[in-house]
Amino acid sequence: MIKFKHIRSRIAFTFLSVVVAIQLAGLIPLKYALVKHANELAQDQINVGERVFVNLLQHNTQSLKQATQVLAADFAFRDAVASNDAETIKSALESYQGRIHAQVAYYISNSEDLVIGTADSKFDLNARQAILQNQNGTLKFDIVDGKPYQLITVPVKAPDVIGWIVMGFAVDGRLADQIKQLTHLDVTFLQKTAQQDWKLMSGTGTSQLSNVLVKTIADIYRQKLSLHKVDLHGQTYHLKIRSLHETKDEVLLVVLQGSVAPFTRELSQLFQSMVVLTFIGVLIFAALIWYVSRKITEPIAELVKNADEIAMGDYAKEIDINSSDEVGYLGKALNSMREAVLQRTLRIQRLAFNDELSGLSNRLAFMQGMQQAITRHAETQQKFSVLVINIHRFKPINKTLGRDFGDDLLRHVGQVLKENILSEHDVVARLSADEFAILLQYADQAKATQYADKINRIFDAPVHVQGQAIDVRIGMGIALYPDHGVSEEALLNHAETALHESKVKKAEWIVYNTALEIDQSETLTLISDLKQAIDKNQLLLYIQPKIDVKTRKTLGGEALIRWVHPEKGMIFPDQFIPFAEQTGIISEITNWMLLRACQVLADYKSQGLHMSLAVNLSTRDLNNMELPEQIAELLKAHRLDAKALKLEITEGSLMQDPERAETVVRKLAAMGLHLAIDDFGTGYSSLAYLRQLPVQELKIDRSFVMFMDKNSGDASIVKSTIDLAHNLGLNVVAEGIENEDVLGQLAKLGCDEGQGYFIGKPMPEKDFAIWLERWEGQNEIDIDIGDDLSFSVNPLDGFIPPR
Ligand code: C2E
Ligand code: CA
Ligand code: CA
Repeated sequence: MIKFKHIRSRIAFTFLSVVVAIQLAGLIPLKYALVKHANELAQDQINVGERVFVNLLQHNTQSLKQATQVLAADFAFRDAVASNDAETIKSALESYQGRIHAQVAYYISNSEDLVIGTADSKFDLNARQAILQNQNGTLKFDIVDGKPYQLITVPVKAPDVIGWIVMGFAVDGRLADQIKQLTHLDVTFLQKTAQQDWKLMSGTGTSQLSNVLVKTIADIYRQKLSLHKVDLHGQTYHLKIRSLHETKDEVLLVVLQGSVAPFTRELSQLFQSMVVLTFIGVLIFAALIWYVSRKITEPIAELVKNADEIAMGDYAKEIDINSSDEVGYLGKALNSMREAVLQRTLRIQRLAFNDELSGLSNRLAFMQGMQQAITRHAETQQKFSVLVINIHRFKPINKTLGRDFGDDLLRHVGQVLKENILSEHDVVARLSADEFAILLQYADQAKATQYADKINRIFDAPVHVQGQAIDVRIGMGIALYPDHGVSEEALLNHAETALHESKVKKAEWIVYNTALEIDQSETLTLISDLKQAIDKNQLLLYIQPKIDVKTRKTLGGEALIRWVHPEKGMIFPDQFIPFAEQTGIISEITNWMLLRACQVLADYKSQGLHMSLAVNLSTRDLNNMELPEQIAELLKAHRLDAKALKLEITEGSLMQDPERAETVVRKLAAMGLHLAIDDFGTGYSSLAYLRQLPVQELKIDRSFVMFMDKNSGDASIVKSTIDLAHNLGLNVVAEGIENEDVLGQLAKLGCDEGQGYFIGKPMPEKDFAIWLERWEGQNEIDIDIGDDLSFSVNPLDGFIPPR
């Protein structure tokens, strides 16, 4: 079975095969018919030839007979015969022989055995009887002296028959040629005598018969067949064999020989032209079939091409459909298939590489972008930068203003980042909830930090989302390729390390450097150092004042820890409290802080200052069932009222083991201790939950307060928190007050207490008294002299260490 690559080849092949088969079915029998016909014609020719030959002989007989009769009637000749004048008879015979072109001539006397012949005529006496038998003047073939002759015998009458004249004509090439002229057949004479076997005697010059065939002809003759077909030298001949003379010992045969070739030649020319015509016809038909099958299969081929393109992944090109038949239908089906695949592919691509919320790239796409940039760097040595950007306080914004708002805000930030990229090849991605990343393709450190500054400046102004102005603070970590990492993972990790550092340092952006890593590795040594910090007296208690927002009177302070490391100097709690919690050292720190707070309170009390101090508790502390007991002992030992000590707990610390924490909290509350929820707004718990707890105070996280004068969103969060807290009967404290405006705004909103750098930075416990004196004094002046002078001098400048 032949396999075809194209349908059109199959169609063309099938039709062509049929056509060729039909043509062959016609040509082959034709060929046979033509050959048969040629043979018939040749046979006809030979039959006609034979008749012509017979007629010729009869005609010859007639004319020779008349000529011979003239001699027989010649008076002088008869006279010579009557007188038995042999000399005269002989000369008469000779002259006549010459005149009628006979080869032999005899006079045979009737009565006596007298035979007179011409010089050439050697008469065999044995033959005399035979000659005389043929007396009726007909032509007779005979073999005389071993040679074949035509003999004509005419009686000589005086008036009775007295003798016979016999004229003989040689059967030779001349006779053969004469016959050929009339019959167009080759002629050959053969004879057999008593003395000699079959022998070829003479024939036409062109006769093809040779001695080889003599035997065959003799055989045919013996079988009494007259017509025969022989193949000689690649040609077919028809032979007609006729016996001319036959006795016991002698035979003379004439063979008429006609070639089929002249007839086949004509017919085969006819056949050849038919073959040529057929061939041309088949060619034309083939071309036609090719064209038609192409026309038929062209649309299919076009569809196949389209399908190939789809298979290669080119879904974008629509398939042209310009027929309404099955092919058109197939095209339509293919088109809708292509469209479906395209949509699916696009969707998969979108899902795989896009962040659905922001429409930006996702982490995977970002990683890929970095990979490509790294590959490109190998060729172009072009540096690039990776920035990781985080929105501060996103969680509380999301929680208070709603997820929709949060989503819009994320989209907005994403849009801003996207609009400010440095080149169209830069990639902006959202990596997680509020974390974005930017790949600046052609940016070195200078360009990357310029970009970071630019973005920061943009977010200096409040952002407007859903008709609200909200202050968005962002932190950025920057890492450069190849300076800060040679793989995309390392690069992103380092940018994130830098981002983390920017949060710790409260910097707008930080460029990664290996020192950041050292900081982290140093954590381990810090942990072991921290263990000794208490014993070695390296911890300090700082106090940050808290005032009544309305009256600005000092109510007390928050106790904040500081660690003065012998080598590293002052270390802030953000840098060691988290791992102190993880390692459990926090309990010792808390105990130390509680002890120190009680000492300070007792000290104040002795000076007549009735202040309160708030101490921060951690998760572990809230799970420590002995804590209430320990505090009770401390209070007792320092003869302090439970009201003097406040405890700040965060929502997070309550969450780890809520049951245990609640038990501890209830015990503490029962002891009359004042409990405050710290960093409110950054956690996840609802006010409804907190309300069940025996807490008296809510501290709004500083991130909402710090910019509430510039940011209406923040202000509204603060306002609603104050209102809600008041509804629940809670005291509200705002921390992070950095300027007068915020303080004033909080007063208007009905906030109870305030804490912040504007009022006082955390300070060593011994400085508190000095601050207190100044603050109270200043506020009295304020009240007396008015607002104008109030902030011309910062009362705290110069003597309070920063933070
Ligand atoms: P916190 O409890 O929210 O403490 C208030 C923090 O806000 C302090 O940072 C203070 O310096 C800072 N702060 C106060 N007013 C302002 C202001 O107007 N502007 C700005 N920017 N910041 C202001 P600090 O002292 O570094 O403490 C950081 C955190 O460390 C504390 O946050 C608290 O969670 C923890 N911490 C401090 N001391 C202790 C401690 O003795 N025990 C425990 N468990 N945690 C502590
Ligand atoms: Ca606190
Ligand atoms: Ca706080």
